[in-house]
Amino acid sequence: MTTQTGDRRAVELSVVCPMANEEDMLTIFFDRVRPLIESCSDAWEIVVVNDGSTDQTLAQLIKLRGSMPQLRIVDLSRNFGKEAALTAGLAHAQGEAVIMIDADLQDPPELIPEMVACWREGYDVVTHVRSNRDSDSVLKRTTAGAFYSIINKISDTEITPNAGDYRLLARGALEAFLSLEERTRFNKGLFEWLGFREKQLLRARADRAEGHTKWNYRKLYSFAIDGITSFSSLPLKIWSWLGFGLALGALLYGVVIVVRTMVFGVDQPGYASMMTVILFFNGVTLIGIGIMGEYLARIFIETKRRPLYIVRKVYE
Ligand code: UDP
Ligand code: MG
Repeated sequence: MTTQTGDRRAVELSVVCPMANEEDMLTIFFDRVRPLIESCSDAWEIVVVNDGSTDQTLAQLIKLRGSMPQLRIVDLSRNFGKEAALTAGLAHAQGEAVIMIDADLQDPPELIPEMVACWREGYDVVTHVRSNRDSDSVLKRTTAGAFYSIINKISDTEITPNAGDYRLLARGALEAFLSLEERTRFNKGLFEWLGFREKQLLRARADRAEGHTKWNYRKLYSFAIDGITSFSSLPLKIWSWLGFGLALGALLYGVVIVVRTMVFGVDQPGYASMMTVILFFNGVTLIGIGIMGEYLARIFIETKRRPLYIVRKVYE
């Protein structure tokens, strides 16, 4: 995860876009994005990361490079997921300012000039915050809302709800981001953790222009768990409190039983209450072990120190 120095200063503005099976989007994407970038800077580049596409995405990108030498393609060895692909793109970007954008144009590229203007004003990070989630299903909206409210209650880093990955990073903020060494990367949280001078712009979000989303609820769930476990250790800690409370309750109950037995003699053994207690405590124990497992798995991943992504080839 090193950045190239050398002739980097020749590029002023980089646009980084991860792509996984986006052949339907390619032409629309470049037709809309290219003129906008050109209007902002003479020294620009587009870095597309091919995240293990199984369709014609790479072939089409290579063809496009013929008429657009400013297009650089980072071809990953397989699909590493959006967060890793984005990091690969950022590491290869050479610009003084770098904008991350999705290929599906849900984030209107027409906002690029405004972002660049904010950067020229002196901001290091320019973020777009979605003013609505109308393009999402009710279930996605509700779960997203619950996720942000939970993570912001239990984590020290404030995570702006509905801030997507559509961001501009100035060189300093970008270098800082790339210097973070953790493997489990919850980018949204990492960007906020970095600090720097941030400008937030409100905007509406459109529907995907072509193709379909690569996220499903299983992926979103593991993304949410990544976010929470990377930015809060509260889920680990509440178990000692819960255990303490339960143990205290059990102790008091024990005293009650002893006293009752001493006063009234031996009771009929209570199968039902016994069963309830056993089941309840086993359940609690399993949840506790599960939570430990989530953290342990992440410690395991971190200790392996595998790279976030493997580059097969860079076309430049
Ligand atoms: N993407 C990627 N690797 C993946 C999944 C997605 O590089 O494994 C890219 C995708 O091509 C698009 C961006 O990430 O440019 C956002 O993907 P998508 O629109 O599917 O996500 P959503 O907008 O639903 O969050
Ligand atoms: Mg999308």
